[in-house]
Amino acid sequence: MSSYDLLVIGGGPAGYVGAIRAAQLGKKVACVEMDRAGGTCLNRGCIPTKALLKNAELYHTIAHRAEEFGLKIEGLSYDWEKVIGRSRTVADKLAGGIEFLFKKNKIDYIRGKASIVGNSTVEVELTDGGKEPTPPNTFSLPPVAKPASCHHFPSTAQPSSARKTP
Ligand SMILES: Cc1cc2nc3c(=O)[nH]c(=O)nc-3n(C[C@H](O)[C@H](O)[C@H](O)COP(=O)(O)OP(=O)(O)OC[C@H]3O[C@@H](n4cnc5c(N)ncnc54)[C@H](O)[C@@H]3O)c2cc1C
Repeated sequence: MSSYDLLVIGGGPAGYVGAIRAAQLGKKVACVEMDRAGGTCLNRGCIPTKALLKNAELYHTIAHRAEEFGLKIEGLSYDWEKVIGRSRTVADKLAGGIEFLFKKNKIDYIRGKASIVGNSTVEVELTDGGKEPTPPNTFSLPPVAKPASCHHFPSTAQPSSARKTP
């Protein structure tokens, strides 16, 4: 059982920034993440979608403006698996960067689902099996990204952190 000055629940942008800053200020910090460090933004949101947008931009430029650039392209097409593969590689690299920053700043990165079970106890159901009670002096609950509701387009979507999108 470890004791921490700060236990951050969730390794998304809100969580990892706070965890790293607290560690830089000399606190003993752990971050509990039930999926992967980087949260919605790095794993499913901002980063992989921008990687896909780059594909779209490149394709559009070649399809519609090749002549302007003096390019002759015949039989332009795409390989969807590779498109998605590149998006995953970019996302994985950046999520790995957060795990590196945790290590560099001596933050314990705990893989599992955290539950608050008492005034000062957080229990973690570890991804690898088992449970770990942690008694932090303080814990932090960064917000979690949720889909906004849109009156004209009712959605049954789960919170984005529970979805697997490219
Ligand atoms: C498709 C898409 C595109 C986006 N593009 C942009 C963009 O271009 N620019 C921009 O600024 N924002 C963008 N966003 C929004 C951005 O992703 C969110 O604002 C940001 O991720 C919120 O960060 P967060 O740390 O609050 O939550 P999250 O990123 O959701 O992180 C929360 C983390 O907590 C973990 N967690 C939750 N409960 C527990 C628990 N009990 N125990 C352990 N771990 C737990 C989750 O697994 C998750 O990793 C986009 C979102 C989506 C869905």
